[in-house]
Amino acid sequence: MAANGGPLRPEWAPEDAGAEFACRVLPGVDESACGESARPPAGPPRPAKLTVDDYVEGILSGNRMLLSKAITLIESNAPKHFETGQEIVQRILPHTGGAIRIGITGVPGAGKSTAIEALGCLLCEMGKKVAVLAVDPSSSISRGSILGDKTRMENLSRTPNAYIRPSPSGGTLGGVTRKSRETLLLCEAAGYDVVVVETVGVGQGEVTVRAMVDFFLLLVLTGAGDDLQGIKKGILELADSIWVNKADGPNRQKALSVRADYDQILHYIRPATEGWRTRAYACSALTGEGIGDIWRVVEEFRKTVTASGFLRERRRSQTLTWVRSMTTEYLQHRISRNAELAEWTAKIEREVAQESIAPTLAARKIIERMEETLFR
Ligand code: GDP
Repeated sequence: MAANGGPLRPEWAPEDAGAEFACRVLPGVDESACGESARPPAGPPRPAKLTVDDYVEGILSGNRMLLSKAITLIESNAPKHFETGQEIVQRILPHTGGAIRIGITGVPGAGKSTAIEALGCLLCEMGKKVAVLAVDPSSSISRGSILGDKTRMENLSRTPNAYIRPSPSGGTLGGVTRKSRETLLLCEAAGYDVVVVETVGVGQGEVTVRAMVDFFLLLVLTGAGDDLQGIKKGILELADSIWVNKADGPNRQKALSVRADYDQILHYIRPATEGWRTRAYACSALTGEGIGDIWRVVEEFRKTVTASGFLRERRRSQTLTWVRSMTTEYLQHRISRNAELAEWTAKIEREVAQESIAPTLAARKIIERMEETLFR
């Protein structure tokens, strides 16, 4: 680095380069020899770390930025974030429960996002605050998200009273469930009147969402004649109402007749909600026809199940079931993490497979060994 042009010029600088040559190696600053003033100016001040109080106050005042950051903590798999997230959930808990929780499912292409956008915009026009969450359990398998990849609900996302959050991805189904449920609670604490939880009609999506909402809506299409056979088994039993979408243009008549077929079938199916009759309707998410009716049905539902006490009971039992399944999942996790226990469990399971041990006895043996290993 010496030769051309002085000791501080790089070797590759042109021979005849003058002082104008930009590429100079500047002498280093010996900080110990200088005062504070010789330091390069500091960048913009780093924002102070947010406290749990900051998050809680922000969420309760409807601050979307802090709501989003809190949801990010909830979704994080880092133990430190988990602890902070739990503190926040605990603190906002008294402010939850105020929204009506609506689940929407249907096969890809049924028109879920179009319908949610139409309904969401309508509700915002009515002065309501609407949060839209997505649950996509396939993301815990494929690590990609069916729901999240599209540009969706552009009009709704521009509406100040709407908040749209894509599905948490990765992790176990239990993890996705926890994150979605806690996100729902945060949205309620942030003052959203309606929380719509969307899920694809694959895997465990419907069951997961049914277990976290008040009202579950199934969006269906008219098909090539065998419509009702094409419907996923068991799904009608989960729904509080069925909407035959795309009832517009040349498809309108067909949609109306398919609606009548569904209504017929529903007579033979036990309703998902005690004291409520599940019915079928037709709508067009594209033209908006029937979208206002969705809200009317939801309102009617809310009135009915609030008066009967069923809404309160459903929410209570949903939460208890969730806590129980987390406890079970945690115990399974502890078993699989302990080498000795995991080996013992695998041995018992082999015996079960060979039918050399009765299932109940097998479970008891596993539990006994678990108690000895983990809890003594
Ligand atoms: P998703 O996969 O269930 O979310 O379905 P999308 O909302 O993305 O809709 C799938 C396609 O169906 C899009 O091209 C929509 O424009 C179209 N679509 C949705 N609703 C309707 C409707 O009511 N009528 C008609 N004709 N097309 C619709």
